Amino acid sequence: MESATVSRPIRQAVIEKDRALFSRQPNLTDYAAVRANFDWSSARTMLDGLPGGQGLNIAHEAIDRHARGRRADRVALRWLGKAGARRELTYRDLQRATNRFANALSGLGVAAGEAVFVLLGRVPELYIAVLGALKAKCVASPLFSAFGPEPIATRLDIGAGKVLVTTEVLYRRKVEALRPRLPNLGQVILIDDGPPIAGTVRWSALMMAASEEFVIPSTGPEDMALLHFTSGTTGRPKGAIHVHEAVVTHHVTGLYALDLHDDDIFWCTADPGWVTGTSYGIIAPLTHGVTTLVVEEEFDAQTWYGVLAAERVTVWYTAPTAIRMMMKLGAEAVRGYDLGALRFMASVGEPLNPEAVVWGVEAFGQPFHDNWWQTETGGIMIANFLALPVKPGSMGLPLPGIDAAIVERTSDGGVRVIDEPMVQGELALKAGWPSMMRGYLHEEERFRKCFVGPWYLTGDLAKRDADGYFWFVGRADDVIKSSGHLIGPFEVESTLMEHPAVAEAGVIGKPDPMAGEIVKAFVALKPGYAESEGLRRELLGHARRHLGAAVAPKEIDFRANLPKTRSGKIMRRLLKARELGLPEGDISSLESDER
Ligand code: ATP
Ligand code: MG
Repeated sequence: MESATVSRPIRQAVIEKDRALFSRQPNLTDYAAVRANFDWSSARTMLDGLPGGQGLNIAHEAIDRHARGRRADRVALRWLGKAGARRELTYRDLQRATNRFANALSGLGVAAGEAVFVLLGRVPELYIAVLGALKAKCVASPLFSAFGPEPIATRLDIGAGKVLVTTEVLYRRKVEALRPRLPNLGQVILIDDGPPIAGTVRWSALMMAASEEFVIPSTGPEDMALLHFTSGTTGRPKGAIHVHEAVVTHHVTGLYALDLHDDDIFWCTADPGWVTGTSYGIIAPLTHGVTTLVVEEEFDAQTWYGVLAAERVTVWYTAPTAIRMMMKLGAEAVRGYDLGALRFMASVGEPLNPEAVVWGVEAFGQPFHDNWWQTETGGIMIANFLALPVKPGSMGLPLPGIDAAIVERTSDGGVRVIDEPMVQGELALKAGWPSMMRGYLHEEERFRKCFVGPWYLTGDLAKRDADGYFWFVGRADDVIKSSGHLIGPFEVESTLMEHPAVAEAGVIGKPDPMAGEIVKAFVALKPGYAESEGLRRELLGHARRHLGAAVAPKEIDFRANLPKTRSGKIMRRLLKARELGLPEGDISSLESDER
């Protein structure tokens, strides 16, 4: 769909959309009017609530209300397994399976409020376990299956995991030996069949014995529903508590930020071990009654293009790291796939370089729509909307119902809202939206410190332009102070990315006796480029030309890969610790490593 046009150069570009080319009327066209008329209590009426006024439960909104209505036989989950396996669950199937799991939990003596952890790859049982646990009013906490034993044990311990759903292989490899440290862990459910293993039960036996009838008990909107650990990009991961009312945000953001329509085939590429894979890989698409795709395989550009084409994906939600990997292969690799069904592409998780937004137009005929949120916010807070112009490099506009501001802290412990456009400060959100975290587990003080007056302070620095678009500068921890300048790593990284040789860049401040800090960049090259002194000088020159000497990196090192979290975020703190020979700190969520 060639619905977007870009005017170069990228930095000043605004991508305008031709509305005549939209294959669906976008859910949000008049941003100002929707915003002005929006309030969360009316938004809640988009959902059903439990029958008989029994409250609000995520799983009812995601499954049961559809399973009772006209969507009962629609495919809810379409699972594409490794080696070509394929399984579909309709809303009715999903209702039965989650009912069984909820009954199985009760049969095991698991009570409301107790935590059910899931340590699985992206397989149907993960989705059934999370949603079944929500039905039983348990707290669901999905973990990345690639985590090592230590991060798993730590999280199970912090969250007082009562039940763990996993595979025999994962159990043997990662959990069994640490079990004595986990006195709360009463039950381990293995999803595969096999001979009995002490201290575990088998999924199939449990499910077979359980009834497929289940009535969700009365659920308060403030009842705890999900425990999500942050990515650990800046330090030790925090356990963010979310409640059933969060589903109101999931639904509203699915409507406006992802533009979900009734007949969509939606693909969120994130793993549920990261909040995006739960809020948007499970909940939001199901509350909208669409078909959501679950792809078990890890990233591979050609495989992904094949999935987009073969499954006729209409809305695609992915992340900057994946986009940058696709860019490495060039737009030509996309040709030859029929992506005619694809009508909207969004991205989250890290700053999306303007180059990547514009590359979307080149490769797919439409930009990637960046949006911003955090584990703590539970759902999308700032987004580029389908019907509105995109400014590459900007995170977009606040969602209806979300008040975002740029603030600075004042000497009396308060904050002042900065009204002037393009002045950098901390990104703050007016507290009170439904999916706002209700706490950091066991970290009361840390939680309290996030709030000043009416504001929730995000820890990210940003600017707002005169049109109200927000621009990410960097995490407060990552900002570089060099000779009196405050430099956001994102701007420097994006500039390096504009050079044809650069696939990825991570920028840190390196202590310097003269400047306080100097800007140092770590760069991974695209295939076909080799590191050399000449290329280093060329990149330094390129950066200096575009950024000026004060902001451009003084040093550039080449790396085959940059260290990243499991959710795909560049770990600048690790680049820095290694550069300075300092302790690496908590690296429990580290994924790819260069060493
Ligand atoms: P930790 O809090 O443990 O250090 P984390 O902040 O990476 O980890 P998440 O909650 O997964 O954990 O990530 C949220 C953060 O990711 C945001 O605060 C922001 O720094 C970054 N982020 C997410 N989306 C965007 C975006 N569109 N643009 C820029 N940054 C983003
Ligand atoms: Mg964070």
